[in-house]
Amino acid sequence: MWDARDVRSASLPDLVRMCAPIVQQLEVTKLRQDATTPQGERRSSDAVPMVFRIGAAEVADRITEVLRSMLAAWVSEQERPVHRMLTVPQLVASLDPLRDWVVKHAQAEAWHDHLLEQCLKALEQIDIPPERVFAGSCPSAGCGVELWPVMGEDVTVCPRCKAQVDVRARRREGLRRIEAYEAPLSRVVDTLRAAGEQISYEQARKWTSRRDAHDRVMLNAVGQDQRGTKLYRLGDVRAVLTRTTRRKARSLRA
Ligand SMILES: [Zn+2]
Repeated sequence: MWDARDVRSASLPDLVRMCAPIVQQLEVTKLRQDATTPQGERRSSDAVPMVFRIGAAEVADRITEVLRSMLAAWVSEQERPVHRMLTVPQLVASLDPLRDWVVKHAQAEAWHDHLLEQCLKALEQIDIPPERVFAGSCPSAGCGVELWPVMGEDVTVCPRCKAQVDVRARRREGLRRIEAYEAPLSRVVDTLRAAGEQISYEQARKWTSRRDAHDRVMLNAVGQDQRGTKLYRLGDVRAVLTRTTRRKARSLRA
């Protein structure tokens, strides 16, 4: 990853290229802001709920907007414009061959300023040690410091007021609050992992076809989004995880 100096000295086309890995890191940061809240009854894989709101999502959105407006400018100058909603990696791949056009464009300076500003903000957002998870703010009256315990830590001490905070209880509480969250399986797994649960996508995918002792499928979808992607309830995935972990612990003891 680059530092602010690399970003500041990058040309516009280079800045565009940096956006793909930067946005990827922002996604990780977003997931790390684990505890999340359901946003109404919206059934969309695009709606990621957030309890502890942070800037990573906003910065990623701003970067996407600038790149989209750049490509939209190019598309509108074409004979037969085609509009598609592209992701940041797709936008970067589309803009990369256009670098000569990009740098000469009347808007080049404005795009450069916008992207530079957002990329610098992004670096601030993602400058968090990856082995830490956000556990909300300190519950002590009048403290409210953000707590970032190390992954796997069960109890953390507030750096300001020295209060002990039960990280596991907080995580359970946070996950319980978002039990109703429905999303594609990979996103549910990412959310659980970001909250510190030990679960892999392969493991969860197996549950969608494996049957239990009563011949019932272990994990069922609750519906699908507009694109036909199956949606799973976070609470359901977590329940299977808890059951299988307990069984494993029992068989280890036996
Ligand atoms: Zn505190």
